[in-house]
Amino acid sequence: MEERFADIIVDISHEKLDRTFQYIIPEGLEGKIKIGSCVNIPFGKGNRLRKGYVTGIGSKAKYAPEKLKGIAGVEENGIDAEAGCIALAAWMREQYGSTMITALKTVLPVRRKIKGIEKKSCKLLIPVQEARLLLEKCTNKKQTARARLLAELIRMGELPMPLITGKLHVSAQTVKSLEKQGVLAVLSENSYRNPVKISKKTDDARMESYGAKKALSHGQQEIASRILEDFDYGKRDTCLIHGITGSGKTEVYLAIIEEMVKRGRQAIFLIPEIALTYQTLLRFYARFGDRVSVMNSTLSQGEKYDQWERAKKGEIDVMIGPRSALFTPFPRLGAIIIDEEHENTYKSESMPKYHARETAEKIASMHQAVVVLGSATPSLEAYYRAKSGQYRLYELQKRQGGGELPAVYTVDLREELKQGNRSIFSRKLHGLLKDRLEKKEQSILFLNRRGYAGFVSCRACGHVMKCPHCDVSLSEHMGGKLVCHYCGYEHPAVKNCPECGSKYILGFRAGTQQIEEALHKEFPEARVLRMDADSTRTKDSYEEILNAFANEEADILLGTQMIVKGHDFPNVTLVGILAADLSLHINDYRAGERTFQLLTQAAGRAGRGRRAGEVVIQTYDPEHYSIVHAASQDYKGFYEEEMMYREMLLYPPAAHMLAVLVASPKEEEGSKLAKEIGILLKGNWPVIGPAPASVGKIQDIYRFMIYVKHKDYGQLIEAKNAVESFLDEREETGRAGKEAVQFDFDPMGAY
Ligand code: ADP
Ligand code: ZN
Ligand code: ZN
Repeated sequence: MEERFADIIVDISHEKLDRTFQYIIPEGLEGKIKIGSCVNIPFGKGNRLRKGYVTGIGSKAKYAPEKLKGIAGVEENGIDAEAGCIALAAWMREQYGSTMITALKTVLPVRRKIKGIEKKSCKLLIPVQEARLLLEKCTNKKQTARARLLAELIRMGELPMPLITGKLHVSAQTVKSLEKQGVLAVLSENSYRNPVKISKKTDDARMESYGAKKALSHGQQEIASRILEDFDYGKRDTCLIHGITGSGKTEVYLAIIEEMVKRGRQAIFLIPEIALTYQTLLRFYARFGDRVSVMNSTLSQGEKYDQWERAKKGEIDVMIGPRSALFTPFPRLGAIIIDEEHENTYKSESMPKYHARETAEKIASMHQAVVVLGSATPSLEAYYRAKSGQYRLYELQKRQGGGELPAVYTVDLREELKQGNRSIFSRKLHGLLKDRLEKKEQSILFLNRRGYAGFVSCRACGHVMKCPHCDVSLSEHMGGKLVCHYCGYEHPAVKNCPECGSKYILGFRAGTQQIEEALHKEFPEARVLRMDADSTRTKDSYEEILNAFANEEADILLGTQMIVKGHDFPNVTLVGILAADLSLHINDYRAGERTFQLLTQAAGRAGRGRRAGEVVIQTYDPEHYSIVHAASQDYKGFYEEEMMYREMLLYPPAAHMLAVLVASPKEEEGSKLAKEIGILLKGNWPVIGPAPASVGKIQDIYRFMIYVKHKDYGQLIEAKNAVESFLDEREETGRAGKEAVQFDFDPMGAY
């Protein structure tokens, strides 16, 4: 049977039109239209031409064929979405809840062809003898421009066009007329915009040290070999490499990729943040040269398009980038490696709210590729799957440089207060800072301020106000009222600590600027660098600060979580963590996990060189298991306790969780819709809420949350589908207002 009909999704921003329309494939276009083709179609009453993507082809008309319109043509400037992309978008749409169009836009970050950059040059065509005669003629006739060009061409043979029209001041017309005479030829070559900018001078030395290929240790070799062996046998289980910082995970990744390339396959290497790209890039570039590229949101559309094309044509082997680099269209993808897999940035914050880990697994299964995850502090999700046998677990427990793990001291800030020390620095930290300044060794001070969200705690005993139903901290609202943002539980303002009666119970506020001032006062001789959101606003400031510190232009680096990751400063022998428990009391079930990760990573910055390191953890809550296990660098101990908590309250990964966000410019309407959705869901699934979100209003849009928890992810998809049908029906019956509903599966933080 002839396939004469195509289902087409219209690529318009009016996303409520999330369905396909059937069109006839006209005679001239038969065979040219495939699933994923970008086409022009007449649409709507006026039959205006619109761009669309073919999502299906068939031989049956769904309506009377005479009523169907025909496809107008294939869109010249569009990029065909390969059939795989459509399938992936459909999977994401179902798995995470979004429209098909937004899902398609996510998997197709480059949607438009952008003309390449042409490199033009001139080449002398006539023999040099002849050219010399011509040069003489031109000089005599005072044709100075021609003479200049000829003289240079005789010397060089070939010249780039910008040099001719620029430095030599020869007009394009002159070049043309010489071309007509057959004296020279204008050559043109398509060149790709290259986003890999390695500055030669400053980085040659670094490159060299990175480039030197290291003989893998026994442990490293074992992991690489087993992963590759499994791959060659056709086994494709996801692998998790749990290795402390500096244990040589990156060398293992490089070895795996190298072997993949030998097998004619390509690799995607995901990193959590663009800011980390440069260091990693140097290391990869030293190993793979031009065969590696980057893809990220700071690239121009033209740069993105070129990288996309190079990948598609197989001109590169490795793509490095954040989450979105997952969608690189490699022809024979072999491996997707996710470094620092526990990082939050792997979860998309806009619809569809996909997680790179699961999406990588889906993409890998479509290409028979393998997914390798790596972290010093694996996410509970990944470790849970590794323990249940779903993932293969590999471990690297020693630092490659042979460096020892640092000595860690936990300081109880309540005790400091009792002893009359009201300073930001405990006596222990103060003493060690002074010692390092005298020895001319470097220190890092880390202020744990992640996700600061107005929790209330007692300075005298450390007690934190928590929701009795959800076991997350309550958030302080205007007037002092305390609210739980999972279930809506409210508690009146507190004046005295319910534990010890102290009146020093309040929200916590301290910023990096205050700490910098305190440092200057206590240690006037110290050179301090501060790194936080304020001091890294400009594009390169992040690198500049880190470079300055690496070059030992400062004694102390003070900053927020951005300083704890990935960097090697061999002269740092002291790390101070100023308020370890700040991140413990985010009104979020992942607070304990985040705190453990941050503290472990921060402590891992100390003593990476030859000298041993020391770490001081200052806290109001020294007995908290996150802090205890971070202090002893005991991931497994932490995992066991954290999982008990998740199991008890059915938080991921013990169960799955669907967050439904209702946003509305009108508070009452938003609240009403949230209640309706809550009632609809309560019939079939266990529901928490609705409650106002922890950020209850953003830019005058009110936000309400409903949570569903279930062991079976499929049940949550059904819950989502039920809400979607309810919303569709509301739309069709004209009852919909300006409310918007978003889904978030296994959310990373509180709303
Ligand atoms: P991770 O990615 O686990 O933090 P890296 O791969 O960056 O660890 O390795 C940490 C340091 O040890 C780097 O400076 C690296 O060059 C070095 N290194 C890694 N593997 C080896 C090895 N087999 N022999 C010597 N040095 C190594
Ligand atoms: Zn108290
Ligand atoms: Zn609650």
